[in-house]
Amino acid sequence: MLDLLITHASLPDGRQNMSIAVQGGRINEVTEGLQAPAHETVDAGGLLVSPPFVDAHFHMDSTLSYGQPRVNESGTLLEGIALWGELKPTLTHDAIVQRALQYCDMAVARGLLAIRSHVDTSHPSLLPVEALLDVKQRVAPYLDLQLVAFPQDGVLRAPGGLDNLKRALDMGVDVVGGIPHFERTMAQGAESVKILCELAAERGKRVDMHCDESDDPHSRHVETLAYETQRLGLYGRVTGSHLTSMHSMDNYYVSKLIPLMAEADLGVVANPLINITLQGRHDTYPKRRGMTRVPELMAAGLTVAFGHDCVLDPWYSGGSADMLEAAHMGLHVGQMTSQAAMRQCFDAVTVNPAKLLGLEGYGIAPGCHADLVLLHARNPVDAIRLRATRLGVWRRGQRVASSPAPVAQLNLPGRPGSVDFASN
Ligand SMILES: [Zn+2]
Repeated sequence: MLDLLITHASLPDGRQNMSIAVQGGRINEVTEGLQAPAHETVDAGGLLVSPPFVDAHFHMDSTLSYGQPRVNESGTLLEGIALWGELKPTLTHDAIVQRALQYCDMAVARGLLAIRSHVDTSHPSLLPVEALLDVKQRVAPYLDLQLVAFPQDGVLRAPGGLDNLKRALDMGVDVVGGIPHFERTMAQGAESVKILCELAAERGKRVDMHCDESDDPHSRHVETLAYETQRLGLYGRVTGSHLTSMHSMDNYYVSKLIPLMAEADLGVVANPLINITLQGRHDTYPKRRGMTRVPELMAAGLTVAFGHDCVLDPWYSGGSADMLEAAHMGLHVGQMTSQAAMRQCFDAVTVNPAKLLGLEGYGIAPGCHADLVLLHARNPVDAIRLRATRLGVWRRGQRVASSPAPVAQLNLPGRPGSVDFASN
């Protein structure tokens, strides 16, 4: 007897009428028209079944803190960092844990089952690190939480920054972070990239840096990141997050830069919701969009993911753990409107971030973990368009969340009695 059988599913790759058979927490068969006894049987009725959403860039130590102690008036990155600095002395272990667990509940309801979260290592107490390591363990049965040691105040700029970051790694944080554009000078920023990549090479860790989150076209730390990646042989293990300065860079320079990034097999994370709100704040009109060059980076063969980055915190007053909202914004900001580009936007919140995180057993194929999401949409493009409801979410073959289909009842003369947005 199977644990779970889903029938009549459409898959993200376009296959239709597929059955997915699950046993012992893994997918053991994906085939057309299979019928077999199972503890739970779900008829998807032609709707999309996807592997879970993955968020490659988040801040779980600050989430759901909006308004504490005040809101960000200028809307800039720098006021957000200052505001987080005001909030930090008031943080407690329990408050961080409770907010993070609440966020993870929302994430599961949205079919978001893997998150890479940066955690601030600036203060010697490492209070946020202890709290999120606690959360990581508590959510492990239902959500993969990968942590990045993030020196928010600058690994060189803040006193003791490097020691604190190393201690966070000693405590069990998975990935080496950085913030070169926040160091005191361009030279110090480049130095920080070198030190942090060497540290990752030494310890066998992945790297994910906030890099060039700026509208300054001369912020070129990504060039150093690509160089250090190839110098140290860290191919495929290094991600540059944000890279918003690339939006404003000279086109000739970018024509040299992107091939260097591709040579280093750099991962890229754009955060469309945050980039479109934080960047361009010093512009009058025209206002720059600030998102990095997503279609061009994809065309060059780089793995590009869309992250959510922030939900209700000093940097962002919106969000609800919905990666389709990030994909929807990325599609619009990047003008990724061809059928192929829209499907790439779905990949940017599923398979691409899964690759950047190095998730094992991700996907809909025999042998993969039975982590599945049934969406109220017929294909990935519609899922983004509708920001489709997650009708069912399964982790290792066990249902962990359900939501009712959003069908509106109508009372109109001579018209049908309801609207089902997924039926078109
Ligand atoms: Zn971030």
